[in-house]
Amino acid sequence: MKDMQFWFVVGSQSLYGEDVLKTVAVRAAEMAAELSKALPYPLIYKVTAKSNAEVASVVKDANHDDTCAGIITWCHTFSPSKMWINGFANLQKPYCHFATQYNREIPNEEIDMDFMNLNQAAHGDREHGFIAARLRMPRKVIAGYWKDESVQKRLGDWMKAAIGVAVSKEMKVMRFGDNMREVAVTEGDKVEVQAKLGWQVNTWATGDLVKEMNAVTEAEIDALMAVYQADYDMATDKLDHVRYQAREEIAMKKMLDAEGCRAFSNTFQDLYGMEQLPGLASQRLMAQGYGYGGEGDWKVSAMTAIMKAMGEGGNGCSLFMEDYTYHLVPGQEYSLGAHMLEVCPCCAAGKPRIETHHLGIGMNEKDPARLVFEGKEGDAIVVSLIDMGGRLRLICQDIHCVKPILPMPNLPVARVMWQASPSLTTGVECWITAGGAHHTVLSYDVTAEMMKDWCAMLDIEFVHITKDTTVESLEHDLFLSDLAWKLK
Ligand code: MN
Repeated sequence: MKDMQFWFVVGSQSLYGEDVLKTVAVRAAEMAAELSKALPYPLIYKVTAKSNAEVASVVKDANHDDTCAGIITWCHTFSPSKMWINGFANLQKPYCHFATQYNREIPNEEIDMDFMNLNQAAHGDREHGFIAARLRMPRKVIAGYWKDESVQKRLGDWMKAAIGVAVSKEMKVMRFGDNMREVAVTEGDKVEVQAKLGWQVNTWATGDLVKEMNAVTEAEIDALMAVYQADYDMATDKLDHVRYQAREEIAMKKMLDAEGCRAFSNTFQDLYGMEQLPGLASQRLMAQGYGYGGEGDWKVSAMTAIMKAMGEGGNGCSLFMEDYTYHLVPGQEYSLGAHMLEVCPCCAAGKPRIETHHLGIGMNEKDPARLVFEGKEGDAIVVSLIDMGGRLRLICQDIHCVKPILPMPNLPVARVMWQASPSLTTGVECWITAGGAHHTVLSYDVTAEMMKDWCAMLDIEFVHITKDTTVESLEHDLFLSDLAWKLK
């Protein structure tokens, strides 16, 4: 996603004359260049639009340019909004209306009617906002002075959400085997997600993977073992088990890259021809930015890849997670999250250890190797995308990850411990009421606001469980939301 950029489209009109329009263009270019220094992706000044034809033209170009991840508009002067209708009606990229102003202060001595005509964003942005409201366009409105750090942070976060849309539109998920038998929440309508989110979700035989694994050379495995030795503590002497995971990692990466897939799923119920469920192998691939979902959960797999791409540097701290068990001591209420093996080491508080342990679930001939570590402390969210039948719902809960309060020396997997909002038990009641899955994406660097924006861009229901949520208010919101979505 390194080549992606955003376009700055500034509204005006011909009425003001050449001098004013020249000033607007110079300032818009200056603002885009300055903002680009602070934003995670470049903001490219494109045009001072003065007519229906100019707006229609820049929107057409934005739609067709694969590097354009979204447009940001602003009105330095007044820009009559009927001239935006034809363009906006065709806009297919995420859209942010940035209500700002070139000057921070009203200049006491200098201000006269010429100044007012040139600097009337307060006036122009209202006209501009009306037409998007009238057209029911999905959009983000951000108001504030363009040089303020907090404003730039919000613009940057919106950009990252838009990058999540670009990644979504190109998402390909490789499924090794089907979903775990009888499980409901990991199912979903693959045709609907492709139409709505762009995801291509398809299956490859486990036998194809085994064939690819058998073609991996000892030299390739030696090279990857050197990386393992450097990056992790080797806390096992069963090196042949670790080598088997290296073989799996190399083979899966080859297959994913050959098909252009950024995410994959597998299931312990279909390991035909394999000696171990991929543990270390899946963890390593996740650390490289690939999405993963256990038990055939392709929805959480795609969401993991998307949220990783939305994070810092295009591969942030978002990971596949599963709610496992609770600590219900009054005043010490925590959730413990983990998975059978597959927790991404991006969240590790220290250097992960490679361990091998017996795994009773699935047909593992040998004890699978996996990375074991504690998750780091920090504010985070957990997110679950579910198929409600006719629409998708994304449930997001605010959490705070802590250093695990217990060492749990006999737990053979990586673990993350957190406090939930508004509290553990009310949070659980809300989560279950909304239908959230046991699988989630846990993220330290993607915020709830970013996920809300991502949902708005893709027309997905967004449910947010915060410190202020009550079961009663949530039930009320879900009831109204259900009605609204049926009318859509
Ligand atoms: Mn699971």
